[in-house]
Amino acid sequence: MVKTADILKEILKEVPADKISDACFEGANIVLYTKDEGFFLDNKGIIKETVDKFKKRIELRPDPSICMKQEKAEKEIRTIIAEEAGIAQIIFDAQRSQVVIEAEKPGLAIGKQGELLREIRAKTLWVPVIRRTPAIRSKIIEGIRSVLYQESDYRRKFLDRTGHRIYDGWIREKKHEWVRISFLGGAREVGRSCLFLQTPESRIIIDCGVNVASEEDAYPFLEAPEFNIKELDAVIISHAHMDHIGFVPYLFKFGYRGPVYMTPPTRDVGSLLLLDYIKIAKSENKDPIFETEDVKEMVKHTITLDYEEVTDITPDVRITLYNAGHIIGSAEVHMHIANGLHNIVYTGDMKYGRTGLLEAANTQFPRVETLIMESTYGGKDNILPPQHEADAMLKNIIIETVKRGGKILMPTLGSGRAQEVMIMLEQMMKNKEIEPIPVYIDGLVWDITAINTAYPEYLNSNVRKQIFHRDENPFLAPCFKHVGSQKERTQVIEETGACVIVATSGMLVGGPSVEYLKRLAEHERNSLIFTCYQGEGSLGRRILNGEREIIFKEGQKQNVIPIKMEVHRLEITAHSDRRQLVNFAFKCNPRPKKIIVNHGEASRCLDLSSSLHKLNRVETVAPRNLDVLRVK
Ligand SMILES: [Zn+2]
Ligand SMILES: [Zn+2]
Repeated sequence: MVKTADILKEILKEVPADKISDACFEGANIVLYTKDEGFFLDNKGIIKETVDKFKKRIELRPDPSICMKQEKAEKEIRTIIAEEAGIAQIIFDAQRSQVVIEAEKPGLAIGKQGELLREIRAKTLWVPVIRRTPAIRSKIIEGIRSVLYQESDYRRKFLDRTGHRIYDGWIREKKHEWVRISFLGGAREVGRSCLFLQTPESRIIIDCGVNVASEEDAYPFLEAPEFNIKELDAVIISHAHMDHIGFVPYLFKFGYRGPVYMTPPTRDVGSLLLLDYIKIAKSENKDPIFETEDVKEMVKHTITLDYEEVTDITPDVRITLYNAGHIIGSAEVHMHIANGLHNIVYTGDMKYGRTGLLEAANTQFPRVETLIMESTYGGKDNILPPQHEADAMLKNIIIETVKRGGKILMPTLGSGRAQEVMIMLEQMMKNKEIEPIPVYIDGLVWDITAINTAYPEYLNSNVRKQIFHRDENPFLAPCFKHVGSQKERTQVIEETGACVIVATSGMLVGGPSVEYLKRLAEHERNSLIFTCYQGEGSLGRRILNGEREIIFKEGQKQNVIPIKMEVHRLEITAHSDRRQLVNFAFKCNPRPKKIIVNHGEASRCLDLSSSLHKLNRVETVAPRNLDVLRVK
C-alpha cells in the first residue's frame, strides 16, 4: 500500500471525509475524487477554503465510476459545442476523469466565461480540457499528444511519484539552510548552458544544452564531482534552443526519470529540434549521443507550465516562469527557495524589447536577490540599431536583389528569427513596401511556424489580436510556401525567379541552408543575409569574417565553391543588445543584490559584469565553467 503523504492527510481533515473517494498528486497539484455528483458540481466553497488554507492547487474531480459512458458523453459534448469551434478530436482519459477536446477555435468551445465547460461538467460528469488545434498541421504536436495519451497510465503514476517527492516530509523541521550554484556550462561562453542548483533538500539542473558549433567543448560538465544523476530531483528548461535543451535526452539515456519543467511551446519546439539533431548526426555518419527513445522519455516526463503559473518542484524550491521575449515559449526562471530565504532569477536568453512577434522580457518579480543574466551581446560595442533600421535595411537588400533577378537566402535558427523575419516580410508586402514575391520556407522553420500557430497566447498582443479577432493569421499569408522535399528544393533553386528563402540551420552548420548556399553562392545577383548569432567555428562565422570559399567533401574529392553572392548581416537579434541588457538590470524590480553574468564570450561577460557593477553598485561576477558559488 502506498503511504498517504502527510499533506494529503491534513487536507482530508478539512473536507467531508465521506465525500472523498481518492486523493493523489499530479506533480505539485493535489487531486481529490468524489463519487457524490452533488458535491462535484457544487462543493459550497469547501475546496476554495482548503486551497486558501494550504496555498496549494487542489482540484476536485468526479470519481471515474460516476462519469457518463464515453460514447454518450462524446455525443453530448458535440451537441453542447457548436460546429464552428471545429472540434478535431475528443479523447477520454478515463482514470483521471478528464476529457480532452481539441478544437480549432478554443474560445468557441469554452463559451462565455466558461459556460460551455460548466455545461459539459454538469451533463457528462467529465472534466473538460480544451486544446488548440494548430492552424498549420503540425506532426510534432500530433506526435507528442499521442505519446501523452498512450502513456497516460504511466503519466498518472509518474505525476503521483513527483508529488510524493515534493510533499513527503512536508512538515519536517527545517535544518540549516544554504543555496549554491555550480556552473556546468555556458559560463564565459555561448553554448552548452547548464546550471546546477543545490540546497539541503534539492538537486536541480537549470538548462542542459549542447554547443552545436564545437566538437571539443560540446557538452556540459556533468562529470563535476558534486553532480550525481541518481540524486537529481528536477530539470528546468528555459527555452527550446539546442544550447539550452540539447543534452536533456542524454540525462534520460543515463537513467533519469524525474520531471522536466518547461512551457508547452518549449516542449514542442524542443522535441522537434532534438529529433532533428539525431537526424543530422546520422546523415553525417556520426553516432548521435542519444536516440529517439530518449527524446520520447523526455516528453513523457515533461510537466508544462504556463507563464506566471507558480509551482513547487521540490520540498524547498518553488518556481515560476516568466516571458523572456526571446523565442516562442522562452522563459525567465524565478526560483523561490526555502520559503523565501533566497530568490533567484535566471533570465535564460532574453530580449528586453518588443519585437514583431513577442512582448519584451518581464522585469517584475515578487522578489529577487540573485539575478543570473545572459550577455550574448554584452560587450561595450554590441549596440544594435533599432528595429525600424533593420527593417529598412532588409527592405533595401530585397529590392536591390529582386531588381537583379536574384534570390535572397536567409539562414535562420528554426525558432525565433525565422518567424520574426516572416512577420516582417508579410507586413512589408501587405503595406506594399515591396513587390509580392514568394517566400520559401524550408526545413524545420515550417514545422516551428506551425507550432507558433498552436500557441498564439505566447505571441505579442498584435499578432494575437490578428489571429483571435480578425481571423488573419499572418503565418497563413499566401506568399509563404513550404518546401518539403529535395525535388521542391531543386525547383526553387533552378526554376523560380526572384524569391526569399528562409532555411535552417542559422549558422550554416548542416541543414538545407547549406545546400542552398552551395548552389547560390557563385552568382553575384544573389544575396546572403545572416540573421542570427554566428557561433565561433561555424561556417557562418567564417563567412562573416571574410572567408569567400566553401570547401566541402563530396565522396572522395574536395570541392571548392567561391562565394560571389552579396553577404549581409542583418542586425536583428532575439537577444538583448548591450543597451537592453543594462536597462534590464536597471529595471529589474525589485533590484537584485547580486548579478551573475553568463552566456557570452569571455570578454563580453567580463565587460558587462564590470559595467553593471559600476552602474548599479551591486556585487557582480562572471564565473567560469566549474565554478561554484554559494549565494546564501
Ligand atoms: Zn536561445
Ligand atoms: Zn542560448
